[in-house]
Amino acid sequence: MNTTHDRYPVPQGFAGPQTVTQEQYEDLYQASITDADAFWAKAAERVDWYRAPTQIQDTCLTNADEFHIRWYADGELNVSVNCLDRHLEKRGDKAALIWESDDPAIPSQRVTYRELHAKVCKMGNALRRLGIARGDRVTIYMPMIVETIVAMLACARIGAVHNVVFGGFAPASIADRVRNCGASAIITADEGRRAGRKIALKANVDAALEMPGMEGVRSVLVVPNTGTPVNMVAERDYWLDRLMERESAECEPERMNAEDPLFILYTSGSTGKPKGMLHTTGGYLVYAAYTHAAIFDIRDSDVFWCTADVGWITGHSYIAYGPLANGATSLIFEGVPSYPDASRFWQVIDKHDVTIFYTAPTAIRALMREGPEPVLRTSRKSLRLLGTVGEPINPEAWRWYHGVVGAGRCPIVDTWWQTETGGILISPLPGATECKPGAASVPFFGIRPALVDVASGTLIEGPGEGNLFIRGSWPGQARSIYGDDRRYYESCFKDYPGMYFTGDSCRRDADGHYWITGRVDDVLNVSGHRIGTAELESALVSHPKVAEAAAVGFAHDIKGQGIYVYVTLKAGHAESDSLRQELVAHMRREIGPIATPDHLQWAPSLPKTRSGKIMRRILRKIAENTVDDLGDITTLADPSVVQALVRERRMA
Ligand code: ATP
Ligand code: MG
Repeated sequence: MNTTHDRYPVPQGFAGPQTVTQEQYEDLYQASITDADAFWAKAAERVDWYRAPTQIQDTCLTNADEFHIRWYADGELNVSVNCLDRHLEKRGDKAALIWESDDPAIPSQRVTYRELHAKVCKMGNALRRLGIARGDRVTIYMPMIVETIVAMLACARIGAVHNVVFGGFAPASIADRVRNCGASAIITADEGRRAGRKIALKANVDAALEMPGMEGVRSVLVVPNTGTPVNMVAERDYWLDRLMERESAECEPERMNAEDPLFILYTSGSTGKPKGMLHTTGGYLVYAAYTHAAIFDIRDSDVFWCTADVGWITGHSYIAYGPLANGATSLIFEGVPSYPDASRFWQVIDKHDVTIFYTAPTAIRALMREGPEPVLRTSRKSLRLLGTVGEPINPEAWRWYHGVVGAGRCPIVDTWWQTETGGILISPLPGATECKPGAASVPFFGIRPALVDVASGTLIEGPGEGNLFIRGSWPGQARSIYGDDRRYYESCFKDYPGMYFTGDSCRRDADGHYWITGRVDDVLNVSGHRIGTAELESALVSHPKVAEAAAVGFAHDIKGQGIYVYVTLKAGHAESDSLRQELVAHMRREIGPIATPDHLQWAPSLPKTRSGKIMRRILRKIAENTVDDLGDITTLADPSVVQALVRERRMA
């Protein structure tokens, strides 16, 4: 197969006071592996502790009965103190958050560390006054506004465990999550804004509360965001601004144990039913802060913009906790990339002099579809580093991101990680790693990836491709699936004792760099050859007329599995039989005859999760014509996309 690739060296002069150089990376990585306890003890010094930990790692990953993951177990700290109080002296007037609305006409907000501290204290006091205490679960169902971050930090301040539910979910999905984590309060807003539309958040919460098993929710706190009138139930619903007005701007933080829960977050549900991953206090904060500082090479003057929603782990670790623990300025954006037009991201970068921009391949592909003009009409001269997360990035999209968005100046960190991992595990370091489009590259300090050969079940040494595991533990690792230790152990640790199974398939090249090739469940086996979805899709996306593609397998009498691809064309190109043949020939050329698709279906758009990932599980069912049983589709962003593909399939 075609595994040649272009290389992008570390740009000359990419060096700040904290930049990790290649030499330092090698040394630190070796140190982190040879004496992990010493390494992570040192790393913990970036956090302020009431009581510094003397115990570093305490884990058992090898048997179901004793399974546990603990880090810094005798340490005591408070996350909100680390994100706020400790910055007040030196950075009190620095912007902690810059908020940019969905609607460019609404003025942006700049919230200093001092102001954020006061807001968090007031909200913390208000929550306490309602009887919410340490250990209680609080669901946060909010738009992307400043109060959302305030709510997370207020929970952390009083020791309540937050559960952020993405503001695009419907009532039944809210109810599922609230019940599963046993939340006694919900923090929401009257409405959210998205692409010029209003989203009835409070009405969705009301509908969720009508569902069975929701009696545990005693209070609903509502932020007046758009000012629209909403139904308020006496003794249950409260306007949060009115409660906060009465409270003091000082709030005594809870002294938390490192292993006390910080939050529960449900995975985005690409593969099936979402799981409530439990993250705790000390290890998570150390890991989020350290990865954020090193991988994004944070400098005091940076304006860091992560476009994820705070309802996903990326928003938790790299909008809220990592940046704020590091005293950085974090931009929070309420809108979408395409509203009012496809230039919006780049305009926001110019408006706020964003230096580091972190987004998802799905957004890059969508914007690439619009051509370079919406990008080129902006300056983007403030940018110095780009990042991506969420799916494998097709090399073609990588090159566009690098060449057009970053004007060839900015390195790209392709960060591979999961809700379960708490922070980034595999990524280039911008001052240390030569980038290859499509490669997540090198493991972060303390991370030991392992590849297991699928046929033999044995470990692969050197270059090769197999299922990706991580040996041992790291501080940011999820401690459990909430309320179900056994499910966590059985799904992720049972098969290979001592290693965490990621569910992803991966290739290691001759330089020891890692390339995620797709999810294990999605890998195709064609005539005995295993082919990852990323490779097939990237070959299609490298054709100039293709905007986006998805590849799945289906049962095939001769080959075992055949290849079924879905193709979305760029604007201005028409579907035709000759183009179909051209694309088939293109895939044979790019990868080889083994990659000849058996079916190519045109797809006006692809089914995606609400976080923007292609849901191949559903595409497989359409390919196999077993659409009566689509499984759990509540995490699907737009069900009508599926209906359209099913109709097309039936007609074909
Ligand atoms: P579920 O676990 O419920 O199916 P999910 O896996 O989509 O949902 P997340 O934890 O948000 O939920 O996503 C993690 C997954 O996203 C990874 O396992 C991987 O498949 C993919 N991913 C994330 N970042 C990258 C990246 N840089 N390159 C390739 N794949 C990535
Ligand atoms: Mg997953």
